Formats: sequence, structure tokens, C-alpha cells
Amino acid sequence: MQPLIFDNRFIRELPGDPIQDNYTRQVSDCLWSSVQPTPVKNPQLLAYSADVAQMLGLNATSMQTPELIHTLGGNAVLAGMVTYATRYGGHQFGNWAGQLGDGRAIYLGELLHAEQRFELQLKGAGETPYSRRADGRAVLRSSLREFLCSEAMHYLGAPTTRALSLVTTGDGVVRDMFYDGNQQIEPGAIVCRVAPSFTRFGHFELLASRNELGLLAQLVRFTIDRDFADWRAQSGLDMSSQPLSEAVISAWFSEICRRTAVMVAHWMRVGFVHGVMNTDNMSILGLTIDYGPYGWVDNFDPGWTPNTTDAQGRRYCFGRQPDIARWNLERLADALATLLPNSQGLAVGLTHYDQVYGASLTTSLSHKFGWDAWQEADGELVNRVFELMTRAEVDMTLFFNLLAEIDIHAPQLDLLKPAFYLEKSLDQYRAAFTSWLTDYATRIKASTLTPSARLTHMAAANPIYVLRNYMAQEAIDLATQGDMSRLHTLLNLLQQPYTLQAGMDEFRQKRPDWARQKAGCSMLSCSS
Ligand code: AMP
Ligand code: MG
Repeated sequence: MQPLIFDNRFIRELPGDPIQDNYTRQVSDCLWSSVQPTPVKNPQLLAYSADVAQMLGLNATSMQTPELIHTLGGNAVLAGMVTYATRYGGHQFGNWAGQLGDGRAIYLGELLHAEQRFELQLKGAGETPYSRRADGRAVLRSSLREFLCSEAMHYLGAPTTRALSLVTTGDGVVRDMFYDGNQQIEPGAIVCRVAPSFTRFGHFELLASRNELGLLAQLVRFTIDRDFADWRAQSGLDMSSQPLSEAVISAWFSEICRRTAVMVAHWMRVGFVHGVMNTDNMSILGLTIDYGPYGWVDNFDPGWTPNTTDAQGRRYCFGRQPDIARWNLERLADALATLLPNSQGLAVGLTHYDQVYGASLTTSLSHKFGWDAWQEADGELVNRVFELMTRAEVDMTLFFNLLAEIDIHAPQLDLLKPAFYLEKSLDQYRAAFTSWLTDYATRIKASTLTPSARLTHMAAANPIYVLRNYMAQEAIDLATQGDMSRLHTLLNLLQQPYTLQAGMDEFRQKRPDWARQKAGCSMLSCSS
């Protein structure tokens, strides 16, 4: 295997924990703690992303070398790698939770390849000073879900962290999946995650809350310098002043707001529900991060949450994601405000969020429905059908796929039938849907798009294949029995989510009845 090149700026330029011993504790005045992954019994590579491997300068042969597999399982480190966990806090379910940190994700350093920089992390590699009362491990089901979904999101065009590999450890991990006293031993696994930066809102929040303002200023400067290099070059702002000027910090915050808005607009377009939008799970780069009890909307429902812990409050349900992202940005603004004489500049960033989110949403809705530039009256048309779809239980993905097939000059509601979960709904809501379809056809006829341009827009905005919860669960059930075929089929399939693929019809069906109330398919716990 060719040697990989590491350049570990985070630990070189930012202060580390003077304590070397690995025990759970409160850590202060630093950003990272040195920690080694805990070795595992028998690391086996279940799957890897060829695309991510290539991005890192690895190939099919290097992915099979025992040296690399041991590294991806936490049993070895390659030359140049450094291993550490970082210190962050966060607001969880609306409340400040204090120090959290990488409780089971261990960094392997910063890999340089093709003029790009990537942080690598092993998720589930053992305890760190930030593990609190947990074991530092991850189970196969949640690891497979993160591995597959982060790759799927990338191919859908949504900004996300990536996944290089999925490794089983050969060790058992004890989990009480539904927190009901029913403990089970599950297979342990480790995902190697990859992103230009895994820095979270919570990194900044913790420093502000502990009044470590010198360190906060240092982290802001470091992050702008390393993670926002392109933006820095384009912005034309002077970054040399000590401390950074209010103008720089505010403009940078606006950029974070912009990226976050774009990310959430993609989630809403494809029907992704993150499930735990705590501020420690918000990436400073606007990447989808920390795939836990996430889910995909089957029947369109803004109130739906996949997370059983959130079933009561529904704080993180599908329809609230744009507001919650803004709330999270407000918490980041609170942290950054500790560096500034006043926070007016930060308020501009939040307004920017509203504008970018609004514009991204209307553009993506125009594409999804297949009409030209958004007009004010379109809001009524969209709200009306979304409300109908919610009440009648209509599948989001199938609905938009089928809508493209409607003959605008003779619209037939029955063409949409495969998207209805309840047969009786089609009749119950026939009049309302038919009248909507007539108005929709009128809108399309008034649109300046040619029929083929309309279909091109729709095809690019409406995925055919998404990682429905039951699909991931079937892959998990098979993988648990040692059969990786479904995992590999899905990994391939989801690389081209907008292209109809031969022999793959079973993956463009609505959620089967058996999955309606099954654990892992309709509801997920945070246990992972
Ligand atoms: P999450 O809800 O997965 O975003 O995790 C919230 C916090 O709990 C983070 O600080 C995680 O590192 C930590 N955490 C979650 N699961 C574990 C685990 N099995 N062992 C140690 N820390 C964990
Ligand atoms: Mg997390």
C-alpha cells in the first residue's frame, strides 16, 4: 500500500489536554485529548465506499490489506496518523447539556490527497475522556445505517459527511434497544467517517459557556483558516487583525447560516428526517452529520419523527427541521456573541438563513412540481396538496415520481394510486385531489418550461430510490446473519438515486404493510 500523507493541523495548532490517561472526566482549556482506540477481537471489512476510497488515494487492493483493515478496526495506526477525541458541548432537546465531546469517535488525523484535506474518524472505537457513562462502542445496526445513509445522501446531492468503511469488530456490545430493561448482546461495528471537518456548533458553544474566550477566538480563527479557505479567499475580508474583526466573524457566521439553510432545504426536498438535531450534531460546514435515529418520510407527514425519544415532543419532526436549524444557529450566535461588542452583525446572518432557506425551498419545490420560477400563488397549491397527502397518507417519493407521468392535458388521478397507502383514501379524497390536479395542470400549462425541461427538472429534484427505513432494516437483518448481499445491492443502487435501474423495482415501492409498526422500520431509538 502506498503511504498516506497526514498533516494534523487540529492537534498541532490547537491546545490539547495535558492529561494523557483515558478516563471519563470534565476537560478544560483545550480542544482535544490524546486517546488510542481500544483494540477489537477480529476486525472484518463488511463494505467500503469505492468512491471515498478513491477520494483518499486508496484502491480496491489497498482496501483489502490486513494493515488497513486492522487500522479501520482500531487495532493499528498507520504512519503519520494521530489519534484523539475532541471536546464539545451542546444543546440537547432544547436544553444546555454541558460537556459532551467525542465519546466514541476517535480521530485518525488529517489525510491529504489531491490537494484536499480530510479528517478521518473511527466511530465506535472505544472509550475516551468524553464517554460519560457509555462504552465507546457502536453496534452493527446503527453503523450499517450510518454507512449506507451518509453515502446515499451524498449521491442525492445533500451535503454530508462520508463513510469509507464498515467493519465488524468480532466483539459483542450490550444494548437495551428500547430502554425497557431488555438487554441484548449485539455485534459491534466501526464506521470510518470522512469529512473536511467534523467541527460542530457545540465546539464553540462549550468554550463560550466555560468562558474560555481566548480559546474560542483561537478556534474561530483556526476554523476559518482551515475549513473555510475558499470562502475566505472569495470574501475579500481582512483576516489579519487581532482579534478578528466583528465584520469577519459576522460574515463568517452568515456563511455558516447559508450552508445550514442549503443543507436543510435538501433534507426537505428528499424527505430526510435527521431525528436528533441537537447543536452537538450540527456541522460547522453545513454537512449532515451523526446519523442516528434518522428516517425517511414514507407517507408525507410534517409531524413525523423516527426518533422514539422524541415521540412526545416531536421537536425534531420532519416539518420542524428548518425552524430547529435556525434555533441551533441562534445558539451558535450566542456563543460567538461573547467575542463581540454587540450582536447586530450576527442577526444579519440569521436573516440570511431565512432568505436562503426560503429561496432554496421554493426553487426545489418548483423543480419537484415541474413548473417555472416560483410565484406567490404557488404556495397555496403546494400547501393544499401537502395537506391532502398528509390526511390521505400518500407516499412522498412515489407521489413526485408519478406526478411527472401525469398527462397535463388529460390529468388522471388514478395514475397516482400506487402512492396511496390506504385504498379507501383515494375515494375519500377523490374530489379534493381531482380539483387540485386540475389546478396543477393549469399551473403547468401557464409555465414557460417546455415539457421536456419540466421532466428534466422533476427528474433531478425527485429521487426514485431513497433509503427507506425498512430497506435499511432488511439489510441489517441479513448482515446480522452474515449475508452482506443486500448491503452491497443498496450501496450500488443508492449511488444513482435519480436513475431508473433495471431489476430494482422492489426498491421503488411504498413501505410494505409489515414495516408499518416494526422497530427499525417505523421507529428508532437513540440506542446505537
Ligand atoms: P449522539 O446522541 O449520538 O449525538 O451522542 C451524544 C453524545 O453521547 C456524544 O457526546 C457522543 O459521543 C456520546 N455517545 C453516544 N453513544 C456513546 C457510546 N456508546 N459511548 C460513548 N459515548 C457515546
Ligand atoms: Mg452526536
